[in-house]
Amino acid sequence: MDTTTTTTVLPNNGGRRRLVLLPLPLQGHINPMLQLANILHSKGFSITILHTRFNSPNPTNYPHFNFLSIPDVGLQNHSLSDFANVIRLVHHLNTSSLHPIRDCLARLMLEDAGVSCLITDAQWFATQTVADDLKLPRIVHRTSNISSFLLFAAFPLLRDMGYFRPFSDQELKSEAFVPGLEPLKVKDLPKFLTSDPVGSCELLELMVQATKQARAIIWNSFKELEEAELPTLRHGFSYPHFLIGPFHKYFPASSSSLLDQDKTSISWLDKHSHNSVLYVSFGSLAIIEEYQFLEMAWGLANSKQPFLWVVRPGSIQGSEWLESLPDGFLERIAERRGYIVKWAPQQEVLSHPAIGGFLTHSGWNSTLESICEGVPMICSPCFGDQLPNARYVCDVWKIGVELENGLEREEIESSIKRLMVDKEGIEMRDRVLNLKEKVNICLKKGGSSYTSLEDLVNYILSF
Ligand code: UDP
Repeated sequence: MDTTTTTTVLPNNGGRRRLVLLPLPLQGHINPMLQLANILHSKGFSITILHTRFNSPNPTNYPHFNFLSIPDVGLQNHSLSDFANVIRLVHHLNTSSLHPIRDCLARLMLEDAGVSCLITDAQWFATQTVADDLKLPRIVHRTSNISSFLLFAAFPLLRDMGYFRPFSDQELKSEAFVPGLEPLKVKDLPKFLTSDPVGSCELLELMVQATKQARAIIWNSFKELEEAELPTLRHGFSYPHFLIGPFHKYFPASSSSLLDQDKTSISWLDKHSHNSVLYVSFGSLAIIEEYQFLEMAWGLANSKQPFLWVVRPGSIQGSEWLESLPDGFLERIAERRGYIVKWAPQQEVLSHPAIGGFLTHSGWNSTLESICEGVPMICSPCFGDQLPNARYVCDVWKIGVELENGLEREEIESSIKRLMVDKEGIEMRDRVLNLKEKVNICLKKGGSSYTSLEDLVNYILSF
């Protein structure tokens, strides 16, 4: 349903500079962009959110922003599941929306001479041309981390190395690093490349080229986490980089959720002891097969560890929700050990003292939210940047374990024990708590993100 209003008369902005922010219409991209909008608003800018009608954010949660919906881009009658293949969605948006976006921006600039900058998701790569035509500086907001962006930027290397082909059984298990793309391993590639490696490669090249032409990049990450990658980044992209994250720590819980968050999750968690519950969620896009869902169910039940499980309706192929669970399963887990919801207030959940671990698909927002609350992870990445995120969590930051064989009940059960009971899990928790402390420091006055945000504000004011 289209809940948006197209504002034609801008509220009096008291002479503030206006920034136009354009999110990609997916949950994992809308959340950080709306958080960024709040951060910049708190620094004195007026905000216009330019958005598609498909998956539009709810303007009533942001009365301090002006919302401008992009007219028909051929998506109104679609649901998120039609675009579970993100490549298709990104391609569609970048080819069909440019004229409407140009018209919206041109009209806005006529109404408000103070429009000083366009901030778009990196995946809206075609908007660089629009910004150039309108002589409007464009800054890119990259919703993933630096490490995975560098891997994406090196994607054509994979093509040149001949990796766009079916893999042998040996390669599917190979622990060898992909040359030039460490710490990515050869066995990661089939998932990293997605089902359409050629399409992915083309889109990523366009995204990287347009990102190079922008004025700067804003990262939802923090310097202390990605220090090792910064020299390579600066070498390839020699303009300002603003690492001002984690965004969600500036403002409490997100109001940009596209689905209703089930608050009973919190009252259920209140009944559990410290660090005892495993939180399980695969984000807003991942879809698993029915046998994998059942393996998860048995792995969780057999672990004897309490769990809060988000099963998003439509996330199991061929099922609406829980109907494929065996008779009696729900009764068996009901007594304080397991609780299933359709969508949770994830940031609140992760900060709850009862949470002791997170079984995740390793989306960047989920990974960052887990780090911020000092929660170690079990990683089961599904596609795209989830693969490098999981590699970094397990092999570089060493704050999680990986499900080596996909979703398989014995391994799920043993990984839960490794994470929540064994000594190695305690060590992972210590390391992630150390990162949590670094987050707290980087956001304080004089900290890296705090300073980078001041630099960003001054940079925008210099346009
Ligand atoms: N999320 C939520 N409730 C849930 C599951 C996820 O609010 O039950 C939020 C989560 O906090 C995060 C976003 O949805 O901000 C998911 O983003 P992520 O990058 O982790 O994964 P994606 O959905 O893009 O695959």
